[in-house]
Amino acid sequence: MYVSMGVLLDKANRENYGVMAINCFNLESAFATIHAAEEMNSPIIIDLLMEHLKKHLGLKVVLPAVIGLAREAKVQVAINLDHGKSEDYVKEAINAGFSSVMIDASEKSFEENVKETQKMIRFAKRKEVSVEAEVGGMGAVANENFTNTDMYTNPEEAIEFIKATDVTALAISFGSSHGIMPKGYIPKFDFEIVKKIKKATSKPLVLHGGSGCGADNIRKAVECGINKVNVGSDVMKAQLDALYKQIQENRNKDFVEMVEGTIEPAKEMVKYYINIVGSRNKDILSQTV
Ligand SMILES: [Zn+2]
Repeated sequence: MYVSMGVLLDKANRENYGVMAINCFNLESAFATIHAAEEMNSPIIIDLLMEHLKKHLGLKVVLPAVIGLAREAKVQVAINLDHGKSEDYVKEAINAGFSSVMIDASEKSFEENVKETQKMIRFAKRKEVSVEAEVGGMGAVANENFTNTDMYTNPEEAIEFIKATDVTALAISFGSSHGIMPKGYIPKFDFEIVKKIKKATSKPLVLHGGSGCGADNIRKAVECGINKVNVGSDVMKAQLDALYKQIQENRNKDFVEMVEGTIEPAKEMVKYYINIVGSRNKDILSQTV
């Protein structure tokens, strides 16, 4: 069932668990993610990153197919535009049928971030589309540009931002980075940031760059008030490893079988994270059956 992200996150917020948002960029990853959620009776969010959509196949090809999968699903599925960085693109995404968008103006000034988010919320409201925004900055593991404490979200700013915009959910920075963590490296989280913002606003909060953060960090982040956990790199790595293994075993393996062979490993990774955030058996469709 295709639903709004706000509905999923409001329930998660009331019941203090997290919903996984998996970065998918093609049908196989969306298929694997939705099937993993079905096997766990869990709600799920498909995050389609603007950068991926621009680089590969395009919104007009990918979105209708993923909406089709969501409509067919036995669990609730929301589809969110991840890191929408241009106003025109976000509007196009809303018009094309996304049930949620992230407007990411976090690199701009606080005032501009508030203004752009308010504008997008007004536009999104007409179509009952949820809006995620971000305050603070997130580094990327690539080039060792990890998130440092200067990039962390200032809780006072986040609280002011939420009051000014009434955004559906807010992404905050408190220790995670985008990308694959180096082996053995587990980032340190500043949970006080999450607690302070949650206490003052009671809004759904979002952790970006969940890959490689460690189960304990994610569990505690959810306890403190995170309701959406974004993971992309770990699922893609599972798929890439599956391809590599198959090529090593048989360089001439049928390509269809090889791509099909990425689905189970992706599903396993999604299920691993669903268990951590506590959304197993939280889907309302499966509860009424
Ligand atoms: Zn992100």
